[in-house]
Amino acid sequence: WDEKGGKIWMDGEFVDWKNANIHVLSHVVHYGSSVFEGLRCYENPNGSAIFRLNEHVERLFESAKIYKMPIPFSKTEVSDAIKDVVAINNLNSCYIRPIAYRGYKELGVSPLNCPVNVNIAAWEWGTYLGDEAMENGVDIGVSSWRRLAPDTMPSLAKAGANYMNAQLAKLEAIENGFDEAIMLDYHGFVGEGSGENIFLVKDNVIHTPSLSSSILKGITRDSVIKIAEDLGYDVLEEKIPREMLYLADEVFFSGSAAEVTPIRSIDKIEIGSGKRGSVTEKIQSEFFSIVDGKTEDKFNWLSYIEY
Ligand code: PMP
Repeated sequence: WDEKGGKIWMDGEFVDWKNANIHVLSHVVHYGSSVFEGLRCYENPNGSAIFRLNEHVERLFESAKIYKMPIPFSKTEVSDAIKDVVAINNLNSCYIRPIAYRGYKELGVSPLNCPVNVNIAAWEWGTYLGDEAMENGVDIGVSSWRRLAPDTMPSLAKAGANYMNAQLAKLEAIENGFDEAIMLDYHGFVGEGSGENIFLVKDNVIHTPSLSSSILKGITRDSVIKIAEDLGYDVLEEKIPREMLYLADEVFFSGSAAEVTPIRSIDKIEIGSGKRGSVTEKIQSEFFSIVDGKTEDKFNWLSYIEY
């Protein structure tokens, strides 16, 4: 990590990776006051393109709106800066992390006097849950930690502080020998992973938790729904009881980092045939065909980088 070079965009300026620091008394360090995004850029025969750039920038601003955090740049400026970070670092396939946070001015819970800073970094990042997982699937466990209750922390905001909850679930999963956790919502219905949305397939119908299950409104989730419907599947967004996961023919995760990752077991119960299922494979293959430029970008999801 220390060896990574290149430049990080900090409030309009490019700063060397090793000098991209903030003050230890910044509000965000003490009170978790950040909102952020994670995007991927994919290299394909036509160039390198960021996947669903506009939707990510839109969600960043929505997260900031919930927290009354005025971002001192326009959406166009942030989108342009995201593309510039990839271009200036000469990256092709990479992960991009824009973050807006309450910075350095004074401490105390109220963020109102603290500036809002915006930083954007990018680096090469392979598959999130491992190359082998893309084909064979991951083993996950239902966490004893629940998702945020709807009247505690808003889960439609992609806020840094939400990931303390996610970390508890992830740590527990690792300790129990699982690759990832799945959390139930406050009412005991299926929610999401520590950094992924979840889908299940039963009798050729696709089900995914609705937004009322304290989940992030994932952009890959939306992409999966559009791809699946385009392939002719019905997709139901609904409350999902835990045991429906065990009885599913197929289960898979979606996320910008995780992309489309099959799940082969949950709580040590084999899902379907214990391998990537055929519906998962079709959706995964369509997703990668679009980002890898093998099929036409019919949903207009790719924003090409100009170097
Ligand atoms: N849920 C959580 C908690 C996440 O962190 C992520 C990753 N951003 C997702 C779902 C998937 O969202 P997206 O597809 O927009 O990356």
